[in-house]
Amino acid sequence: VAADITVARLPLPLGRGASIAILDRSEAEEADQMRRDFVANVSHELKTPLTAMIGFIETLRGPARDDARARDRFLDIMEREAARMNRLVSDLLSLSRVQSEVRRRPTTMVDLPMLLRGVLATMDPAARAAGVTVEPQGLSGSQRVPGDPDQLVQVFQNLIQNALKYGASGGYLGVALRRIEHEPLLRGPAWAVDIRDKGEGIEGMHLPRLTERFYRVDTHRSRAQGGTGLGLAIVKHIVNRHRGRLRIDSVRGQGSVFTVILPEGLGRDGGVPAGGLRS
Ligand code: ADP
Repeated sequence: VAADITVARLPLPLGRGASIAILDRSEAEEADQMRRDFVANVSHELKTPLTAMIGFIETLRGPARDDARARDRFLDIMEREAARMNRLVSDLLSLSRVQSEVRRRPTTMVDLPMLLRGVLATMDPAARAAGVTVEPQGLSGSQRVPGDPDQLVQVFQNLIQNALKYGASGGYLGVALRRIEHEPLLRGPAWAVDIRDKGEGIEGMHLPRLTERFYRVDTHRSRAQGGTGLGLAIVKHIVNRHRGRLRIDSVRGQGSVFTVILPEGLGRDGGVPAGGLRS
């Protein structure tokens, strides 16, 4: 469409011939808008706890000055808000690091069952506290796939944390590893990890937007749980970097399954499956 394209004549480095630069303005504008939205979102996310903390500081200096009980309660809330801001900044840094690496594929191999056993061991106290029974499946033995160990740990931690935060009412967490002989999306053999809960599930209309930065089904609840709204965005970018796929299946009232599909090996073209980097 002519209106969406900018054609610019450039100074000619060789003094003859002609060259033009073509910029798809609609794409550039869209990227610019996304950047502006992101900055607005981050500012809002940081401002909410800051405003609350400033309010509490004022109250502590004034009306609650001599009230020991109120002071303790306000300090607790301030500590919680500060911890959430800290997590938000850590998540923003993780996201920016992963985004800058998304085209650089991992050069190491990881033992997937061992990595999952380790994540489950660290999450065990949280699962107990949430009253959730953990059911591992296919996690014995050893299976190596190309991957960045720290990033894959983060993927499974985020998904398991979500299952415990939003799916605990079902009292169940399934973590299953299975091999797929031929994964059509990756055009080859793959390994799939299903993180399953039997909690409240997610309404279908939210699913396509769930991995967007700061998208939440229930913002109040996410904040109350200490969420940053960035967990699934980080998961998506890490899975993309691994040339894998993220699948989300959910039924409202019955639970959710988040499936991470990772290619078993590096493809003929050096690991980039046809279909590229989309999830
Ligand atoms: P948050 O910090 O809010 O948990 P995420 O990006 O990890 O951010 O998740 C985005 C939203 O997706 C959550 O706020 C929640 O509404 C929804 N969600 C994620 N996992 C689950 C789950 N297992 N069950 C129900 N809802 C979920």
